[in-house]
Amino acid sequence: MVWFSDLISLGIESTADNLGIGIVSSDHEVLANYVKIHVPLEGGIHPREAARHHSEYMGASIKTALNQAGITMSEVDIISFAQGPGLGPCLRTGATGARALAAYLNKPLVGVNHCVAHVEIGRMATGAVDPLTLYVSGGNTIVSGYESGRYRIFGETLDIAVGNCFDTFARAAGLEYPGGPDIERKAALGSKLIPLPYAVKGMDLSYSGLLTSITSEYETGKHSIEDLCFSLQETAYAMLGEVTERALAHTSKPELLLTGGVAANKRLASMVRDIAEDHGATPFVVPIKLAQDNGAMIAWTGIIAYNAGYRTPLESSYVNPSWRMDQVEIPWRN
Ligand code: AMP
Ligand code: MG
Repeated sequence: MVWFSDLISLGIESTADNLGIGIVSSDHEVLANYVKIHVPLEGGIHPREAARHHSEYMGASIKTALNQAGITMSEVDIISFAQGPGLGPCLRTGATGARALAAYLNKPLVGVNHCVAHVEIGRMATGAVDPLTLYVSGGNTIVSGYESGRYRIFGETLDIAVGNCFDTFARAAGLEYPGGPDIERKAALGSKLIPLPYAVKGMDLSYSGLLTSITSEYETGKHSIEDLCFSLQETAYAMLGEVTERALAHTSKPELLLTGGVAANKRLASMVRDIAEDHGATPFVVPIKLAQDNGAMIAWTGIIAYNAGYRTPLESSYVNPSWRMDQVEIPWRN
């Protein structure tokens, strides 16, 4: 594999509610990582409104990132973008921006899988080499690890992501949005464990029944919000812990990496550390700026993929909203 040195990659992340523009160099330096988050007026993410937000702020966000990095567009060598998975309208907005830049500036375009990017920036940021990864966010809940040329999925949600479960409950219960941080603060003051559906099926998880159930417990008016948040967190994380622990025992991976926006949660991070310790694995928690959806992870993975020979010609740069991480060949891990 030829490693082109001195490359600068600009990455566009727009799979859901975050518009992220990152600029990263081939010597592991994050030069800029600007994230603009769309907050819906009510309810959860509306794909078309989030996409409108991203197109409105695309130009200004690219300028902000270039200013943060202290470079001009002519110093950027490759344009990377999240090609999937994610919400169609949001993905298309990012891809359109990336295509326009690549075509106008005559730079190579590299389409990146969003979930693979979470793992790669996590490895880069923490120094983990071959981790089992628990990736938990607003849109994804995946336990994965590298095996024979691909990131294999050992367990995943069958319906909604754990972060989406928190965010939707937060809206129903009048908490701050997104819900994770407020739920964490209130959970720390709760103590009564309300019985809720614990749904682990084989190695997979389900969060929609938990969401329905916690919402109807809230509507009874019988419980304090602190106990509701405590019970929601404990149940949601116990499910994650069970699947993660089984995957770790099965794969004997030497490291356990926690990433995604939900990695900001102290309770979950401490559970992950305990699981790793029990299995002689080293735990790593990705710092929040690189764990949440962001452009730096796309820019960095674009560099690795480019160096491994990946190019995305305009005619095959269409987005794929259901692109699974285990469909991507990972030649750079061979
Ligand atoms: P991402 O989709 O990776 O950008 O992450 C956003 C998700 O992380 C949202 O669903 C948030 O509710 C969730 N989140 C952020 N902070 C926390 C926290 N402290 N505890 C739990 N979830 C969190
Ligand atoms: Mg998100």
